[in-house]
Amino acid sequence: MVCKVGKDSFGNDYIENLKQNDISTEFTYQTKDAATGAASIIVDNEGQNIIVIVAGANLLLNTEDLREAASAISRAKVMICQLEVTPATSLEALRIAHSNGVKTLFNPAPAIADLDPEFYTLSDVFCCNESEAEILTGLEVGSPTDAGKAALVLLERGCQVVIITLGAEGCVMLSQTEPVPKHIPTEKVKAVDTTGAGDSFVGALAFYLAYYSNLSLEEMLKRSNFIAAVSVQVTGTQSSYPYKKDLPLDLF
Ligand code: ADP
Repeated sequence: MVCKVGKDSFGNDYIENLKQNDISTEFTYQTKDAATGAASIIVDNEGQNIIVIVAGANLLLNTEDLREAASAISRAKVMICQLEVTPATSLEALRIAHSNGVKTLFNPAPAIADLDPEFYTLSDVFCCNESEAEILTGLEVGSPTDAGKAALVLLERGCQVVIITLGAEGCVMLSQTEPVPKHIPTEKVKAVDTTGAGDSFVGALAFYLAYYSNLSLEEMLKRSNFIAAVSVQVTGTQSSYPYKKDLPLDLF
């Protein structure tokens, strides 16, 4: 986990949380110059959410910090990047990973319309949700068919694989080797809180890319859909993610 938090109680709690989950905090930097990033999340009766993010210290993670983390990044099996740090920092992390043959999984969240074209060519897997796909392509994405069209536009920008997640509809996948959109539906469940579903999905996918690279992409996505569907049945964001020990054995 390469990130920056403030020297405050949220930052201290976050570092403690990482440690409790056996995640290395070697590159979790603490700064006095900003408060720890925070999000205010409102969930409605259907489990849908509105999130206001104050990025705080996240925006102070810089390319200098990445130089320190570079050797750890270069030893990773998969690196996930998103846009809750500055685009310049995220891009540099992708360059480090890519030049060392580390598989890259890029989640352009929150999306920006004029994303640097290098993000696409550096993404082995480019994974976004419907609204992010709309911002990035200018197309309306309200169905699996629409998502297939948007995914094709994103694929043509140079990613190896494009995945668009569709909430209760699962996801759509597309790759340079199979450039025909494929819809992968998910479980019908009673969603109580969808906050963090996308991150749950991305985290699960990174796990399969890292440790189950013999599986087909479609199978990885079915399993990631399943894990994200578990997370939406529980309130909270990180706290709604299941541990491996609590999941069915046939996922592994
Ligand atoms: P984000 O959280 O980024 O908005 P999505 O809403 O597209 O992302 O959800 C990501 C994934 O979580 C989906 O592809 C699906 O696997 C799962 N998911 C989300 N909402 C539901 C739901 N209501 N029922 C079942 N699975 C869901």
